[in-house]
Amino acid sequence: MGRFTGPVCRLCRREGSKLFLKGTRCDTEKCAFERHRASPGMQGSLRGKPTDYAMHLREKQKVKRYYGVLERQFRRYFDIASRSSVNTGEVLLSLLERRLDNVVYRLGFGLSRSQARQIIRHGHILVNGRCVDIPSYSVQPGDVVSVKNRAKSLQLVQAGLSERQQDVPDYLNLVTGQVPEGHVLREPTLDDVGIPVQPQLIIEFCSR
Ligand code: SF4
Repeated sequence: MGRFTGPVCRLCRREGSKLFLKGTRCDTEKCAFERHRASPGMQGSLRGKPTDYAMHLREKQKVKRYYGVLERQFRRYFDIASRSSVNTGEVLLSLLERRLDNVVYRLGFGLSRSQARQIIRHGHILVNGRCVDIPSYSVQPGDVVSVKNRAKSLQLVQAGLSERQQDVPDYLNLVTGQVPEGHVLREPTLDDVGIPVQPQLIIEFCSR
């Protein structure tokens, strides 16, 4: 199945959590989730207690939609995480959090992950001084994510930075200047994920 192109606020209501998919609007009173929390659809407010299976599924879907990855990509991250000798949930979320599109978004260079993806694909972002146009590129501690030093790139990113409303997570250090750049200080942990997540439910679901 391809990428979701419908109204993204429905996804927040479906997952019962703010997923921050619409840029600055998410932090204002116009946020659809703040105004109407019931699941979308005619029977949205009539849904009863979710089954055990539904709770596991929704947790997986929530994380997948938050990071904007497709099922196949998500399964690939899970396979890598499950082969690791450390905690599978921690590794899975660290892999997702270290995606370049997520890092660009969390630094405030883009107003949403989808805008960050577009900025990367159009060649505005450098990692350690080299242009990287792959949104799924995995950054490592010590990497420096910066913007191309040309008017169009800087203008795009400055627009995002001036409107950003969320804090930069602790594992990143944002240096604002004429050419803004972000330093990856360490591997992200569960505490660095911007929404509450129960990784155990995801692991149990994907291990079925
Ligand atoms: Fe829409 Fe609010 Fe979700 Fe943002 S957080 S996508 S405004 S429902």
